[in-house]
Amino acid sequence: MENPPGVGELTPPDRTLLGPGPSPVHPRVLRAMSTPLVGHLDPAFVDIMDETQDLLRYAFRTENEWTLPVSGTGSAAMEAAIGNLVEPGETMLVPTNGYFGGRMAEMARRAGGEVVHVDAPWGEPLDPADVQDAFDAHQPDVFGFVHAETSTGVRQPQVPELTRIAHSHDALVVADTVTSLGGVELRVDDWNIDAAYAGPQKCLSCPPGASPLTLNDDAMDKVLSRDTPSRSWYLDLSLLEGYWGDERAYHHTAPVTNVYALREALRLVAEEGIEERWARHRRVAGALKSGVEAMGLELEPDDDYWLPSLNAVRVPDGVTDTGVIDYLRDHYDLEIAGGLGDLDGEIFRIGCMGHGAREKNVAFLLTALADALD
Ligand code: PLP
Repeated sequence: MENPPGVGELTPPDRTLLGPGPSPVHPRVLRAMSTPLVGHLDPAFVDIMDETQDLLRYAFRTENEWTLPVSGTGSAAMEAAIGNLVEPGETMLVPTNGYFGGRMAEMARRAGGEVVHVDAPWGEPLDPADVQDAFDAHQPDVFGFVHAETSTGVRQPQVPELTRIAHSHDALVVADTVTSLGGVELRVDDWNIDAAYAGPQKCLSCPPGASPLTLNDDAMDKVLSRDTPSRSWYLDLSLLEGYWGDERAYHHTAPVTNVYALREALRLVAEEGIEERWARHRRVAGALKSGVEAMGLELEPDDDYWLPSLNAVRVPDGVTDTGVIDYLRDHYDLEIAGGLGDLDGEIFRIGCMGHGAREKNVAFLLTALADALD
């Protein structure tokens, strides 16, 4: 290119982000991101790493030593979990009730694993009896489930029952907690989850870039005693141990600014208190639910598996989802999303996550949605 491109100053629109993520970033997190960089091996950064890991343990409700932010988006933490825990030739059991179970399957295959399924329709959780049957039929080595399915707005209940079934078959359990960490009750230790990964851009209200991951000793023992190295060098947890473990030796250049952001986002969680935060999400999303129902709209999942952080609202007859979504964006600078996969065109997905989970956003959304549907 001969001449410099005439690109103007960056002025993104000021959207209210009430979709499936990213959620609105807290101003304190934005401020943390504008503080000066230090080196990723600087003793000051090592302290920041320790603090971030402690705060992550608090949010995950775990004592797991192996708790760290993986450099990359939620899919990087997901691939770190699956790619390290599934060895070539092993079998992973994954759910079919949403978009992200499909991604688990794809990652397990690429790790050299065989994939078997436990079925449930999109929009419904897994039934423990079906999980039991799938274990009896296939004896999988690893079981993955999605605690908060962002594509359907379903929260998987009965998690301790699912982990009990898996452990009675000597399998490890990987939980996708991308849309639950920091917003919906999640107890990694009490529920006996072996590995859980998350994304910072949902209920933690942090930009994407450094994604939480925690593994217990059983999971780490498996990682450290693999017969073959993980297929990914970058996400090989036995190598990442050198950086996030005691040694603090170079593996790759950590995304320093994203770690600052995550630390501040997690400090906000600790200040609020994790249980109070879960209660706030339930309260604010409850107001949203009552509001849309009062408008004559239907919230999809049953109360028993309602996911406060992601509300799936059925698109009413005579309306196209994209028409409403575009109207809200163009007239109100407001982001919500449509359905994916089996629910494409069927639902609106309205996020109630982190700093977005506030009453004023509910009032704004209901006013704007009523206008769009008028
Ligand atoms: N799992 C779930 C449940 C998600 O909602 C997402 C993203 O929306 C992911 C995994 C992947 O995360 P990312 O898009 O940050 O890579």
